[in-house]
Amino acid sequence: MKHRIVVLGAGYAGANAAGRLAKRLHPADTEITLVNADPEFVERVRMHQLATGQDLKPRLLTDVFAGTGVRVRTARVTAVDTEHKTVALSDGEIAYDTLVYALGSAAADCGVPGVAEHAHHIDGKGSALRLRDRLAALAAGGTVLVVGGGLTGIEAVTEIAEARPDLEVSFAVRGGLGAWMSEKAQRHLRGTFDRLGITVHEDTDITSVGRAGAMTADGRAIPAEVTVWTAGFAVHPIAAATTLEVSETGQIVVDDTMRSVSHAGVYAVGDAALARGLNGMPLRMSCASGVPTAYRAADAIVAVLTGGSLPENKIGYTGQCVSLGRRDAVVQWVTPDDRPKDSALTGKTAARLKEIICKAAAWSISHPTSMLPARRRRVVPAEQPVTV
Ligand SMILES: Cc1cc2nc3c(=O)[nH]c(=O)nc-3n(C[C@H](O)[C@H](O)[C@H](O)COP(=O)(O)OP(=O)(O)OC[C@H]3O[C@@H](n4cnc5c(N)ncnc54)[C@H](O)[C@@H]3O)c2cc1C
Repeated sequence: MKHRIVVLGAGYAGANAAGRLAKRLHPADTEITLVNADPEFVERVRMHQLATGQDLKPRLLTDVFAGTGVRVRTARVTAVDTEHKTVALSDGEIAYDTLVYALGSAAADCGVPGVAEHAHHIDGKGSALRLRDRLAALAAGGTVLVVGGGLTGIEAVTEIAEARPDLEVSFAVRGGLGAWMSEKAQRHLRGTFDRLGITVHEDTDITSVGRAGAMTADGRAIPAEVTVWTAGFAVHPIAAATTLEVSETGQIVVDDTMRSVSHAGVYAVGDAALARGLNGMPLRMSCASGVPTAYRAADAIVAVLTGGSLPENKIGYTGQCVSLGRRDAVVQWVTPDDRPKDSALTGKTAARLKEIICKAAAWSISHPTSMLPARRRRVVPAEQPVTV
C-alpha cells in the first residue's frame, strides 16, 4: 500500500510543501493529497491590493498541480483525529499516514468589543473583497481608520491612502510608528505617511469599535465610516481540539524539522506552527517563515521515509519587506535572529525588490515542482531500519 501524505491548506506553506514532496518522493510509493477550502491559490500578501480595487491573477490549484502527482481536493477541513489518523472534511473523510498541517491564520478581534460586528479585515479573499466593496461605496471625504501597527496595518493604510487620496485616512498604533524598525526606516515611514496625508494616532489603544468609529483607552473617539482591523491574527481552533501539543496561541508545537513534538506522523508549517528561530523566540507569522518551514518539513518527511539524513540548523531571516502603496516601500534588513540592522532600503528600489519577492513567492507556487532536481526517492519499507 502507498504511504499516504495529506497536506492541509494550500497557502504559501502547504502548497510549497506538497510540491517539494512530489518532486522528492517516488509516485509508486507515495500518494500526496492537498486539501484546500478555496479552489484557487490565494496570494495573501496582496490582500490590501485586492481591497483597493486591484485584480489578482487567478491560479486554480488543479491547474497548478496538474501533472505533478499531487491530488488536489477542494474541501473544508472540519476536524483532525490524530488517534485514528483521519481528517474530517466538508465532503467526507480522508486518512493519512503522514499529515502536514498548514491551515494558516485568520484575523482575531483580540477580545475588543465591536470588532467582530463592525470592523473589516484583510486576512483573506472574502474579507478583502467585502472591504473593497465598502471602500468603493465611500464618497469623497469619507473616513477610514486602520488599527494595528504591524506590517499588515502599514501596508493596508498606505495602500488605501494612495488609491483613494479623496478619503480621510487615519492609523492607530499602540506604540510608535514602525517602532520595531531602524531609525532610517522610521524616518522614511513618517515621510511617506505625511506625503499620503495619513493621520497617525501613536500610543493609542483601541478599546471598542462601533458603527461610526473607535474609542481609545484614554477616552477619545476616532470617527470612521470604515474601520479596518489588522491588530491581531490567530490560528484556526482545529489543532487545539486534537490531542496534538499546541501552544497558548493554538499553534502546533514542532521541533526543528517541523515535526509535532507530541505526534511523530504530524508536521506543521507556516502560521499554524510554533517553531523556534535562532533567538529561541517563535518564528514570526509570515511568508518569510512559511516557505522555509514548508521546505524543512518536506525534506524531513523525505528523510524519514527514504532513509536520508534529517535537515539541521534553525531558520533565519534577512529582511522584512513592507509595501507603502505601489511605488514606495521599506526593506528593513535584519539579523538572522530577526533584529533590525541600521540599514534599510527605501523608496522605488525597495518597492521593486518587494514586488520581485512577491512575484517569486507566487511563481514558486505556480510551478510547484520546478527548480528542484528530480530525485524521486523510494520509500524504505517500515520493517527496514531508517537512519535518522
Ligand atoms: C495583507 C497581508 C499582507 C501580508 N504581507 C506579508 C509580507 O509582505 N511578507 C510576509 O512574509 N508575510 C506577509 N503576510 C503574512 C502572510 O501572508 C502569512 O504569514 C502567510 O500567508 C502564511 O502562510 P500559510 O501557508 O501558513 O497560511 P495561508 O497563506 O493563510 O494559507 C492557509 C491556507 O489554508 C486554507 N484553509 C484555511 N482553513 C481551512 C480549512 N478549514 N479547510 C481547508 N482549507 C483551509 C486557506 O484557504 C489557505 O489556502 C501578509 C498577510 C496579509 C494578510
